[in-house]
Amino acid sequence: YNFAAGSSEMPAAVLERARTELFARADDDGSTAFERPFTGATFGATLAHARARLKDLLAVPDNYHILFLAGGATQQFSMVPLNLLGNAAHVAYADSGHWSQRAIGEAGRYAAVTIAARYQGERPLAAPPLSPWRLPDDCAYCHITPNETADGIAYPALPDCGAVPLVADATSCLLTAPLDVSRFGLLYAAAQKNLGIAGMTVVIVRDDLLRRPALLVPSSCDYRVQAAQGSRANTPPTIAIVLAGMMFDWIVQQGGLAGMQACGQRKAALLYDAIDTSAGFFRAPVAPGHRSPVNVRFELAYPALTTPFIEYAAQNGLHNLRGHGAFGGVRASLYNAMPEEGLRALIACMADFTRNHG
Ligand code: PLP
Repeated sequence: YNFAAGSSEMPAAVLERARTELFARADDDGSTAFERPFTGATFGATLAHARARLKDLLAVPDNYHILFLAGGATQQFSMVPLNLLGNAAHVAYADSGHWSQRAIGEAGRYAAVTIAARYQGERPLAAPPLSPWRLPDDCAYCHITPNETADGIAYPALPDCGAVPLVADATSCLLTAPLDVSRFGLLYAAAQKNLGIAGMTVVIVRDDLLRRPALLVPSSCDYRVQAAQGSRANTPPTIAIVLAGMMFDWIVQQGGLAGMQACGQRKAALLYDAIDTSAGFFRAPVAPGHRSPVNVRFELAYPALTTPFIEYAAQNGLHNLRGHGAFGGVRASLYNAMPEEGLRALIACMADFTRNHG
């Protein structure tokens, strides 16, 4: 089982489907998915299918565009301010930990950034309080990171930013639970966690926010251009889009986002409960109510046992449990594809390790 935060495992059924369909030759030109021109009808149908599935899954309102863009979420840290700033002087960002701080750093290159709310960094760790938020008058948008992948923190609810459009980096949580898209002006998520493989980022943006970008924005990074050309202004990440379509189909088969949420909550509750009832051998640094259901961060009471535990888990087939480099400790990422058996195996391994070292 792969507990990596960076790139999730794929469901076995999707891998099996990919094994046959990626190599299947099209009737018209004999191409496989690897060779197919992005301008052709066959890839066009694949793209339209992925877009329609995502629109259904998230009930995306008709006044939003769904873009499938090349590159990762970090690229959006620049594309968001460059495309949305317009004539405003300010942008607002909530600092909730590692990835929001990375987004703030990039935005600061293009605009005056106001920190709308601040992460305290004191234990137990928590998302910034939901009010009051500092939003300057002349503010293009307010950016949040609803799930902090590295810190293991999730907001308990969305902030109310009034008329200021809310923008979210939903890279580690999109499609793990239902989401009211109409609360956002723009959402983005890199694909490698819950939507397939690296190389593609989904951007969902409200029509009225498509404005003239800053002068030096490359046209391939101009949301208006990509929206007008259906994400085909230049060659999109074709294989990542094919696989995202397969992931969306799989999520529908699992009961859609309500199914994903129920399964995810069950998995997270089992693991946090195992941590909380370990008599202090393991402990979670994040306050209940702010704990991420997808990136479960925990530590051992004896830090010297961290590496032996991670190695013991790997010997038992439980991989990539090391915490983010900035924080150390242990992190188990429970993205959609992690089966409950994987989690039960982790909990059994924690109990065995405690018996041997407690
Ligand atoms: N934002 C969040 C919340 C993330 O978890 C990550 C990666 O882990 C990123 C941004 C960076 O994504 P990428 O590596 O695709 O640029």
